[in-house]
This record gives sequence, structure tokens and C-alpha cells, in this order.
Amino acid sequence: MANTQKLPLRKDVPEKLTWDLTTVYKTDADFEKDFSAVQDQLPVIAQLAGSLENGADALLKATGLYLDLNRKLEKVYVYAQLKNDQDTSETKYQAMFSRVESMVAKFGAAVSWFDPELLTLSESTMKQYYDQEPKLSDYKRLFDQTFEKRGHILSNDVEKVLAGASDIFSAGEKTFGILDNTDLPFPVVTDDNGNQVQLSQGVYGILLESTSQAVRKQAFKKLYEVYGQFQHTLAATLTTNVKNHNFKAQVRKYNSALEAALAANEVPTNVYQNLIDVVNNHLDLLHRYVALRKRILDLDNLHMYDLYTSLVDKKSPKYTFDRSKEIALDALQVMGPDYVSHVKEEFDHRWIDVVENQFKRSGGYSSGTYDTNPFILLNWKDNLDNLYTLIHETGHSMHSYYSAHNQPYQYGDYSIFVAEIASTTNENILTDYLLDQFKDDPEMKKIVLNYYLDGFKGTVFRQTQFAEFEQYIHEQDAKGQPLTADFMDNYYRDLNHKYYGDAVISDDEIGLEWSRIPHFYYNFYVYQYATGFAASSTLADGIVHGTKDNVEKYLNFLKSGSSDIPTNVMKKAGVDMTKPDYLEHAFEIFEQRLNEFEKLTMK
Ligand SMILES: [Zn+2]
Repeated sequence: MANTQKLPLRKDVPEKLTWDLTTVYKTDADFEKDFSAVQDQLPVIAQLAGSLENGADALLKATGLYLDLNRKLEKVYVYAQLKNDQDTSETKYQAMFSRVESMVAKFGAAVSWFDPELLTLSESTMKQYYDQEPKLSDYKRLFDQTFEKRGHILSNDVEKVLAGASDIFSAGEKTFGILDNTDLPFPVVTDDNGNQVQLSQGVYGILLESTSQAVRKQAFKKLYEVYGQFQHTLAATLTTNVKNHNFKAQVRKYNSALEAALAANEVPTNVYQNLIDVVNNHLDLLHRYVALRKRILDLDNLHMYDLYTSLVDKKSPKYTFDRSKEIALDALQVMGPDYVSHVKEEFDHRWIDVVENQFKRSGGYSSGTYDTNPFILLNWKDNLDNLYTLIHETGHSMHSYYSAHNQPYQYGDYSIFVAEIASTTNENILTDYLLDQFKDDPEMKKIVLNYYLDGFKGTVFRQTQFAEFEQYIHEQDAKGQPLTADFMDNYYRDLNHKYYGDAVISDDEIGLEWSRIPHFYYNFYVYQYATGFAASSTLADGIVHGTKDNVEKYLNFLKSGSSDIPTNVMKKAGVDMTKPDYLEHAFEIFEQRLNEFEKLTMK
């Protein structure tokens, strides 16, 4: 917090380091025009309720208006959101953003009739409609996404009851959130410099990276002491959440909660099963990595709290923003001139908000919509981490750019299942590039390999461990097994031992890890981090070491948006995510780099 004093005010940030939002709306008055236009049309679209059975042109009219309004609403949303994020203390834009948020809710209410009514149109009616009005075929995939749910939508009365009870269904998640973010009493601990600091999730993460084992151990013990005291309450909140998923899957006639969750993104369940199977077949690599950690850190016993401290000297060289842009452009040459030209556009035409200023939103993201540039928010620091963030967010932005410029509005975005693929493909390309640049510089090579190996451990192994736990507790509850704290502790401790192997002491506390992971409330979400990173490892390898054909296919994937189901879109890129091969390939790369790191650190 003391740092805040040194940060510049928004008005003092040099213009060239800020994003140019006048390309969205020249003035706030132009924003107001679009805002009013959406507002005025809400009663119009609401009045179209009941019209879809009137014929093909009625469906075309309603769909057209729906998409038009949605498109404008997204544009006003992005403008208000970015204005608000750049300086959250500015009341004018706080107010603008909250007006847009309430407009989003009103829009949702005004079009809530659309999907249920569409579902009443039979297949034969739809066939007639397509024959009568050929323009409707432009929306066929959009309609089909709704029709996919046909066998899983219940009678109107039941749907009403379920919708009305949504607050009650989310009680487990909400209670966990309040307990975890507000009520849990964390103690004061000692940090690296001997200062007393209040423990929190954020502070815990930092202390686990400490070079002092005593600091790491204390943070670990103290954190789990707190979760241990509340483990029975936390088991109850998680159980409520699991029961919510299992109940809904059952009444909606899915075979499992997993199937229901994946169906929402049109992902077949074998994608999930393949991930767990293939990762399990390669746990020996994680065991080797952990054993290497123990040797490099020169510890008699390696504990769970020793897994996050860096294995290399952290004095990594400085990467300024200007230097990072040069490196990113150079690394991305492998994508071909067209891709590079758009990255240059991003760098030269102020798509990025670079530096931290007072009251700017923290972190980094890429955000935009069909009618805006894909903007990037950063809080720049001169280090390797930020170079990776720049190229990661650039991957998201290029994906958005290509989808929006090659698809009609209705297919101009992309599925959450593929969302982290373009970003991590760029990260993997950068890793390849840096390893090549530093081929005669073992110290730098070690830093890059350590960065990669830790990333793979956290993204592929750890998220799959979570995915396995998530599947297990849902299956056990469905079978009638009570999910007590003891039951979950025991399973989690065994699972953790299976993943990390004998080189690490399975500290008793780790059995409680399930109790503090918010992602277990996301409904089968985390596996996508692992599948995405594995797919991108394979893609980047093809782009860097393959032929022009690999690049061509990759760009076709970026251009596809949501024009097909996600696994088909990925097939265009040359990766079949319904088969295990791409995962095997990702592990080959991991193993080869682990070998290299082992060799370098033996010296
Ligand atoms: Zn991302």
C-alpha cells in the first residue's frame, strides 16, 4: 500500500502509454447516443415475445433485432468498463459503468422469452422456416446451440421454480465466499525481512515463494491451522455445491454433473477423461521434477511448502516495455507477416494501457468486442514475468481480432474452452524463442526452463489434480457417500501423494487443501487450463518447428470464432482434443525440457 504514494495520477501518464478509447467513441456523448438507442429498443424487442411461431420472417426479424442490440450493448459495456478500470476513483465512469451493468440486466429480462420460445419450434417447423427464408441459415449454428438443450429443458412451471430458486442453489458457493474472503480470522506471521504481516491468501502466495524454509513453513502451518478449525463448515459448503450440480444434472436428464457442465460448452466428456488418464500415465515426470527440486534446494526433507520457491537465482535481467515489444515481435515472426502486422498495430496504435497509475485496476487482461479494438490492460514492471504477460494478452487480442474480422457478428467471439489456447500458444512460442536465444548462456537458459517447468506443473499437473478431485466428489455424492471433512481429507491426501510421489513429505495439512480452493465452486472449470496449455504446447511446437501448413492451420483456428463446436474449431488448427495424442506430445516436450534442466543443474 505504501507504494501507492509513488504511483502517478492518471492524468500524468504519458498519452502514448495509454489506450486510445476515442477509437470506440470519440466523446462520451457518442456513448450516450448508443446507450439511449439500446434503451429505446428494449420495449420493442420485449413486445416480439410470442411472435416466433408466426413464420420465418418473424424469426428473422426478432433474431436480427436481438443481435443488433446485443452488439451495441457490448460496445457501450466495453467503453464504460475500460474507462472505469483505468481510474476506478473517477465517479463519472463509476456511474457510467453501473448504468451499463443495470442495462445488461434489463436487456436480459427483455429477451428472456427468446430461447424458451425458440425451443417450442419443432424440427419440421425449422426446416420449413429455412426453406422459406434462406437468410435464416446464417443463424443455423446459433439456433442449434439452443436446440442442443432440447432434451434437457423442463416444463415451463418447473423451469420457473428452478430459476426462482437460483439464489438458494448457490448458497454453498456464497457462504464459502463470505467465510473465505471476510470471516476467516488469519493470524499475523513473520515475512522474509522479519516484519510482522497479516496473513491472507495473497500474502500466503508471496510467502510460499520465500527463499527461507522457516518463513514458508510458518505460513503453511498457520494458514492450515485456520482452515482446519473450520473444516466441517467448509465440507458442508462444498457438499451443498456438489449436491446442487448433481441435483440439476439429474432433473435435466444428464448422466452426470460432469456431462451437464461440459455440455454447456459443447465439450464431450472423453476430453476430460483423456486428460486425467494421460496425466496419470506421466506422473513419474512430476515425481522426477519434485526430486530434482529437493536436490537443487539441498533440503533433507522436501515439504509441500517447498514447491513454490524459485530453483534459480531470481536476479533475472530487466525487461523494459520497449525491449519486451521488440522481443515479442521477433518471437512472433514465426506466425507470418499478416499476424505480425496486427501485433504492430496493437503496439503502435495504442491498444495497450501500459503503466500502473493510482486507482487503476490491478492485473492484466485483454478486453474488447466485435466493434472495438481488442484492448489490453497491463500494470507494467520490467521483468520476465511481464514480458510473458504481454505476449499472453497479445495472443488473446489477436484471437479476438482474427475472429471478429473473419466471422459475422453472431460467430465473432470464441468459446471459453478454447479461450486460453491462443494466449498460451504465444507463451510457448516465446519459451522456444528464448531457449534458442540463450543456447550459449546456461544461466539464462536455467531461468527460462525453470519458468516453463513451474508453469507446466501449476497448469497441467495441478489443475488436473483438481479436476480429478472434483470428479471424484461429485461421483461419490451421487452414490450417496456423505462428503465429510474426514472423507475428503483422506482422499485428497492420497491423491496428493499420488501426484507428487515419495520425494515430498505428505504433510498432514495438505489433506485440507480442498477446503480453500475457490475453483471447486466453479463447476468443472479448471480442466480447461490443463487441456488449453497442453494443446498450445503442441500447436507452438508445430508453428516453430513445423511447416507453413502448421501456421496456416493455426490462423484458420483464430479466424473460426465460434462458427463451429469448439473441438471442431481445434481440429482446424490440427489438434484433435477428443483424442489423447496432443496431451502425449505436450508431455514429450515437458520431458525433454526437464532433461535439459536436470543436465544444466547437475553441473
Ligand atoms: Zn489468459
